[in-house]
Parts: sequence; structure tokens; C-alpha cells
Amino acid sequence: MNQPFNQPAPELGNQYEEDRVLRSYLTRIMPADVLREIEPSLKEIGELAGGELYQMQLADRLNEPILTQWDAWGERIDHIELTPVWQRAEQLAAQYGVVAAAHEKTFGRYSRPYQFALAYIFHPSTDIYTCPLAMTDGAIRTLLRSGNQKLIDRAVPRLTSRDPQQFWSSGQWMTESTGGSDVGTSETIARQDQQGTWRLYGRKWFTSAATSPMALTLGRPEGNPPRGKGLALFYLETRDENNRLQNIFINRLKDKLGTRKLPTAELSLEGTPAELVMGDKNGVANMVPMLHITRTWNSVMTAAAMRRGIALARDYARKRQAFGALLSQKLLHLDTMAMLQAETEAAFHLSFYLVELLGLDENDGLSEEQTHLFRLLTSIVKLTTGKQVMGVVSEVIEVFAGAGYVEDTGLPVLLRDSQVFPIWEGTTNVLSLDVLRALRDERGLIALKKKADQSMKSVKDHQLAAAVRIAQEALKHGETWLKETQPNGQPLLEAGARRFALTLGRSLALALLLEHAQWSLENEGDGLARAAALRFARSGIDLISPTAVDESAALANDERLPI
Ligand SMILES: Cc1cc2nc3c(=O)[nH]c(=O)nc-3n(C[C@H](O)[C@H](O)[C@H](O)COP(=O)(O)OP(=O)(O)OC[C@H]3O[C@@H](n4cnc5c(N)ncnc54)[C@H](O)[C@@H]3O)c2cc1C
Repeated sequence: MNQPFNQPAPELGNQYEEDRVLRSYLTRIMPADVLREIEPSLKEIGELAGGELYQMQLADRLNEPILTQWDAWGERIDHIELTPVWQRAEQLAAQYGVVAAAHEKTFGRYSRPYQFALAYIFHPSTDIYTCPLAMTDGAIRTLLRSGNQKLIDRAVPRLTSRDPQQFWSSGQWMTESTGGSDVGTSETIARQDQQGTWRLYGRKWFTSAATSPMALTLGRPEGNPPRGKGLALFYLETRDENNRLQNIFINRLKDKLGTRKLPTAELSLEGTPAELVMGDKNGVANMVPMLHITRTWNSVMTAAAMRRGIALARDYARKRQAFGALLSQKLLHLDTMAMLQAETEAAFHLSFYLVELLGLDENDGLSEEQTHLFRLLTSIVKLTTGKQVMGVVSEVIEVFAGAGYVEDTGLPVLLRDSQVFPIWEGTTNVLSLDVLRALRDERGLIALKKKADQSMKSVKDHQLAAAVRIAQEALKHGETWLKETQPNGQPLLEAGARRFALTLGRSLALALLLEHAQWSLENEGDGLARAAALRFARSGIDLISPTAVDESAALANDERLPI
């Protein structure tokens, strides 16, 4: 009897060694001695990510965190049991310094690119464990910026520890049922008890990594004015010295589309002790350092998710036959994959440029111009890459076709998990409005244009020169759109904000790709980065189009539009 055909599964190799884009980028930006020093750890984590962790992840596919609210004897315990991959990821993240590497500052301003290279390799094999890592990193920056020495001394050594026994992760509890975008509407009340301890009363609606030993959160001291200004930023530890939750009740874990290994809980705070981080007002503003970090993580992790999808799809195409040839020999398949690769390289360079700015900020300091740029780019890069990842990962599923739709291949989870990227840490539209806010100060746009020009100045290759014009024209269009729309008032600006912000993001991504492509031609004798830049240039950089507010309202509401 003939054996039925069995398709070999896609496989992964060392996720550092196989990543041309990451290696080439690190070679360009890092001094050779720094790269030599960090490479062994990148190789090790690359081996884990493509080997042990990836296999564990496939085996762990059906496990989810389990909440046990009561013990056998009626005691309320609210214990969350994490999945095996998460338990392993927690240890490895501490040991490899996936957070700590940035704060140890061993390599000065290169410490951030190093840390994010670790995180980028680690992310796709650890089931979104990078969510608590991002919040931990954000909590460190927020505490350090607060100048609250008592809290810094208490928490930062834990948050930056490389010892898994000592390491703490942190939560970021902002969203309430009244809204995650408009957090100024938060209902949590803060009240001082007779001993002067602040206690929080309220319900937090989305708290990821509910197992973290600490959290930064918002509460409104009684009597404070409404909106964000009246909220204060609080530090809390979830458990007391006897390991009991401190008046925190885990009502349930969210039943989510994706990120299902990440325990995202609804919590009630019923007198939870907390400490003010910096004053009893302006909590939303004081949380901004946290958002800068988590948005940077979000951006880099989109590139990581795209890269994982492509790595699997590439291997599969070399094994899967259709119509008498391997997929890797089919021209239309290759054209599709090339588009995905170009989009991924753009997301990679865009998000790692943000990382470079962060590294500069924390080591040598940012110039005034770079400060404006950093403020603007945390939103632009997050929203741009959040859209890219959905396009790429959805196409990856189609590249696998039926297998991509079947759960035990481990592929559908890539798509479901990625859908969170454009949602949390600010949705696309909310961040587009933030871009408009940032651009009330024109220095942001000037700085962005200058950065793009600087990147493209090195371009000598004549093929790349054509793409330089595409980026320049798109940026010019953005600038004129803003200038011409501003006098017409807020409605048109608001309605066009997303297309405008994406145009800025895609233009800068193209400029960065071009810079790298020119470098790669000269230093690596390789035309691949050039091919990526040229393809990305042809894939829709300028997305600005005329905005008709009445028409949008009619279409959105499906209402009659008078002719
Ligand atoms: C898996 C997961 C984990 C999460 N973990 C955490 C966590 O740990 N901590 C935490 O604090 N939060 C967390 N969140 C919450 C997340 O940050 C919020 O979902 C997000 O900020 C959006 O808030 P919302 O869901 O209330 O949507 P809303 O704010 O109600 O937004 C709904 C829609 O309205 C749009 N919108 C809002 N305002 C405007 C406007 N002015 N103009 C145009 N459009 C607008 C938004 O773009 C969106 O499309 C998590 C969410 C998910 C999905």
C-alpha cells in the first residue's frame, strides 16, 4: 500500500544567526568591540528561541494560565498558575538581562539596542512574556524619572535583577471600564487611612501580568478635581510579607482573542495600600515615561512577530510542493514573500531607530531637537508598525493556506497574538491624534524631516536615489497637508490624522531603509537591503488623501447623503 504523503513541518534554526537584518544592522551601528562582546549572548538566546523554547511553545499550545480563587477550605487565594513556557521565560529573561541590560549601561548608548536585540529574539518564542517585561522596563524609567529615592531603592534593584529569585516584574494598571484611551475618566478613589497610608478603592479592567509583585497605577485622591490632572500615580506591592494579596481581588481572567498565555485580569482594589510616586496630582502625565517605553517595546515586538512569520514561511516554501515545483520556485509566491520581507525590514529599522534614541536619551542625553523627535516618534512608530504587523502576519497565514489556519501547526496564534499590537498602549487613532498634539510645536516635524534628510544624504546609488524622491515627496506632502489643513480647523485635521501619521511613519521608515541599503552596498557588497528599500518605496508611502468629513459621517453611519 502506498504511504500517504506527509508534509514536513517548517523548522527554525538559530534565531540570531539566521537573521540577516538584525546582524547587518548591529554591524552598522555598533562599535566592533561591543558587537564582539554581546554576540555570544545573542547567539545563545537565538539558539534557545529557535530550539528549546520554540519546541516548548508548540508543546505548551493548549495550556493557559489558571486562576484559582478559593482553596479547598474556603480561603480566598486568587492564585494564578502560569504556563510552563512563561515559567521558563521568567527565569531566562532575568538571566539574560532582557530588561537589566538596558539599565546596567555596560555599553553606554548601545545598551538599549543590545537589550532590544535580546528582546526581539526572545519575544516570538515566549508567548508574549515580553508584555510584563515591557511594563517592568517602563516602571524602572518612571521611578527613576520620579526622583522618589525611597521607591527607587526599594524596587529598582529587584526590577533590574539578573537573579530569577530576586527579579520582580511590574504591572501597569491604567485601563478601567470607563475607557483605556480616555483614562482621565478613571473611577478608582484614593483615601488616606488613620495612619496616613493611602488606600485604593476601585476596579481595574485590564491588568496584564496580574502575577507581578508590584504595579504602577492611577487613583484619584478624594476631593481632587476630575480628569487626568486629578489622578495621582501610585506604586503598590501586590502581596504582603506573608505573600497574601493586599486587598486585591482577582475577579476573573479575560477570555481573549489572543495573548492567551498572558494572564490579563479584572481586579477589585478594596483598600489596597499604595504610595504616591510623585505628588498627589498629574498622574496621567507622570505615567508618560512608562508609555514611552511600552510603546517602544510594542514597536520592536511587531518586527519580531513579522520576522517569525517569515522565517517559518520561508522554510516551508522550501519544503512544500505545488504544481510540480517547490513554492520557493514559484514566482508569484516569491513576489508575495518579498513584499512581506520589505515591510518587515521597514518595521525593523523604524523601531530600532526609536531604540537608538532611547539609548542616547539615557546615556549621552538628547539634544532639544532629538527630544522633540523622540516625543513624536513613540506614537508614530508604534502606530505604523502596529498596522504593518497585521498585514504581514495575515499574509503569512495565507502563505501557509490550510496549514496556517490549523491550530496545531502553531501558526494561527501568531495572527491572534499580533492583533493586540495596534490596540494596547494606544490605538492607531488615539496615537494619530497624539501626533497632532505633539505637532502643535512645529519643532517635532522639523526634527523628523531633518532626520530623514540626514539618513538619505548618504545615498549615492542611482536606484536608491529614485526612492529618496518618494520619501522626500511624501514628507513634503505631509508638511503641506498640515499647513493647509490647520487654518481650516480641527475637524479636517482630526479626520485626516491617521493617514497623515502613517505617511510620516512610512516616509521615515523608507529613509532609514535607504540609509541602511547604501551602507550595505558599500560594506557588505549585498544588494538585498537595496531590494527591500526599493520594494518598500513602491508599497504606498504617501497615504494622505482628501478628507470629506460629511461623506465619512454618512458612510460610517450608513445614512442618506444628499446629492
Ligand atoms: C490583551 C490586552 C491586555 C491589556 N493589558 C492592559 C494592562 O496591563 N494595563 C492597562 O492599563 N490596560 C491594558 N489593556 C487595555 C488597553 O490598553 C486598552 O484596551 C486600550 O488602551 C484601549 O482602550 P479601550 O479598550 O477602553 O477602548 P476605547 O478607549 O473605548 O476605544 C474604542 C475605540 O475608540 C477609538 N477612539 C477613542 N478615542 C477616540 C478619538 N478621540 N477619536 C477617534 N477614535 C477614538 C479607539 O481608537 C478605539 O478604536 C489591555 C488590552 C488588551 C487587549
